[in-house]
Amino acid sequence: MLPLGSWQLKLVVHESSFVRSRYQRANGERSRRKDAGRSPLASQHVMEESSTRRTTRAVRIGRVAIGAGAPVAVQSMCATKTRAIDATVAQTLQLQRAGAAIVRIAVDNDKEVEALKEIRRQTDAVLAVDLQENYRLAAKVGPYVDKIRYNPGHLHHVERDKSIRDKVAWLVGVARDTDCAVRIGANCGSVAPAFLGRYPHDQLEALVQSALFHCSFMEELGFERFVVSLKDSDPQKVVEANTRFAQARPDVPLHLGVTEAGMPPEGIIKTRLAFEKLLARGLGDTIRVSLTLPNDRKHEEVEVGHRILDDVAHGRFISVPDFGHGLNIISCPSCSRVENESFVELAAQVRELTRYAQQHRITIAIMGCRVNGPGETDDADLGLWCGPSTVNLKKKDVKVGAFGYQQVLPRLRAELDRLIAEREAAA
Ligand code: SF4
Repeated sequence: MLPLGSWQLKLVVHESSFVRSRYQRANGERSRRKDAGRSPLASQHVMEESSTRRTTRAVRIGRVAIGAGAPVAVQSMCATKTRAIDATVAQTLQLQRAGAAIVRIAVDNDKEVEALKEIRRQTDAVLAVDLQENYRLAAKVGPYVDKIRYNPGHLHHVERDKSIRDKVAWLVGVARDTDCAVRIGANCGSVAPAFLGRYPHDQLEALVQSALFHCSFMEELGFERFVVSLKDSDPQKVVEANTRFAQARPDVPLHLGVTEAGMPPEGIIKTRLAFEKLLARGLGDTIRVSLTLPNDRKHEEVEVGHRILDDVAHGRFISVPDFGHGLNIISCPSCSRVENESFVELAAQVRELTRYAQQHRITIAIMGCRVNGPGETDDADLGLWCGPSTVNLKKKDVKVGAFGYQQVLPRLRAELDRLIAEREAAA
């Protein structure tokens, strides 16, 4: 059972033979059927949704098959510094032992490329590499990994004189030459400006259209070995974006994830909320659970992923309270880019500090680094993104200031009090 903490949950057991057979097949019949609490109405509902599912095409990632009815693969990402080779190899093994079919590693510079070569030598894991702004590193890392993830919203940052099409064509060439699959990894917090401009009042549509554009373009190039992810920290947006995308492209395999879901138990609940809805509709070929955890507990992401698949396999669904009410704290799962290891502790301190504001509909975001922190905190009412020695505090997209790791807490409290007072005055 999940560690549900203070969340008020109602467990509803829904049974669907369609869902059950698909996911039991997918997960090797790991668990036995439980009939308790069967709800015919619920079953019918799930059956209706599930029966609309179409089979996605097969994509090979190293020795792992994604899509076309293959088992739903659980994957995860190392949070160790990539240059800390021993620690990264150990964490790769830790994730593999927990059941990760694919392990992702972040690479942002040449030193990390060198480290990756040695990591590759020391592990037999199926490896994916996460490229953010420096997409040109793909040529250097491709020979050592099985999948390359790029973010369509970050391609415009470098080589501004080159078209997006040229950059994608180059990436496809690298993937072909190095026998890699590709993930088009789109995030709500970093949608390409061209698409945001085209859909100024519908960020989700901008996200979906951006992913669809990249799919079409790869296919024009004759390349089909790709999967797509559409992530956000809000589970409802993840459900909506993936649903819209799958309606347009039911054949493209989906990598599901709720990014920056936060710490357990809230992070697990947000992830379940999205995954249950999507998996029950037959959407999702590989999943990643993103949780803010210290390194020695990182494998719990994989265990949670398997637990969710197992529950869906048995038609067990959990109804959760509406996240649209009350205080919502989002925090990134941390990865090798974390700039100060106090980040996880800071996230926990923020949660403690803000408990008094539980009933206020306010979002606070805590991010571990400068790569995603500045953009991903823009939509939060209050945002904190961590640098090596200071934490940047923001109110929406306006910077309040940079403060020491302890000094930021009273300042956050003051800003939160002010925000609550402003809202109450306006009510
Ligand atoms: Fe990693 Fe930075 Fe994203 Fe956190 S915000 S997961 S540290 S890239």
